[in-house]
Amino acid sequence: MKIAILGAMREEIEPLLTKIENLTKHEYASNIFYTGTLCGKEIAMAYSKIGKVNAALTATLLIEKFGCQKLLFSGVAGGINEALKIGDLIFGEKLVQHDVDITAFGHPWGFIPESGDFVESDGELNELAKKVASKMGVKIIGGTIATGDQFIASEEKKEWIKNTYKADALEMEGASVGYVCKCLNVPFFVLRAISDTADMDAGFSFEEFLVSSAKVSANFLENMIDEL
Ligand code: SAH
Repeated sequence: MKIAILGAMREEIEPLLTKIENLTKHEYASNIFYTGTLCGKEIAMAYSKIGKVNAALTATLLIEKFGCQKLLFSGVAGGINEALKIGDLIFGEKLVQHDVDITAFGHPWGFIPESGDFVESDGELNELAKKVASKMGVKIIGGTIATGDQFIASEEKKEWIKNTYKADALEMEGASVGYVCKCLNVPFFVLRAISDTADMDAGFSFEEFLVSSAKVSANFLENMIDEL
């Protein structure tokens, strides 16, 4: 079984890239895909570049072109749930596109006809995450992740996302990746370590903690892949 490992930014996959054995580079669709083995498992890895369109394209290619049968996303996010501090881990049990707005037709925020709103991740991978966390002695929470093509750096917008979707964290790729995986019947897992709290200081916090939080997430994912 081939496993897809996906991040949005170079910093999010770099900690694992250096550990791939039998590494081969593939240039395709204006991006670079890496194949090889990690923890003895066959993998294909890429960073999509930021945002829902890039993430959906890359997830699709990892599945359809590279033949991956499970997909694990690793990266950073803005924290909403007050229990989440910088560097803390969350996995998305449910993910939603917070910027989808066809409310003019009476639909709720985030809802697309014939497509839906919340997408649920794979229960077995989520259970594995809890098991790995207790083995490693680290804290992880499962919750709702809100995804949109916006870097959120406003207390007001963050509160709106929190109230509208009961979200625990927000980022810019997870729900689009989840939707692709759901449509293609591929179990998926979205892991994020907190880089900022989506408030007016989010930009500074993100720049300060991107590398360290990305490493926390990647390291956890490696431990999960070892157990797969
Ligand atoms: N500094 C980067 C842009 C980062 S965009 C540049 O200039 O190239 C933020 C990235 O981190 C996205 O991939 C998103 O998924 C995640 N993220 C972290 N904090 C976020 C926040 N507060 N709002 C939205 N996305 C966030």
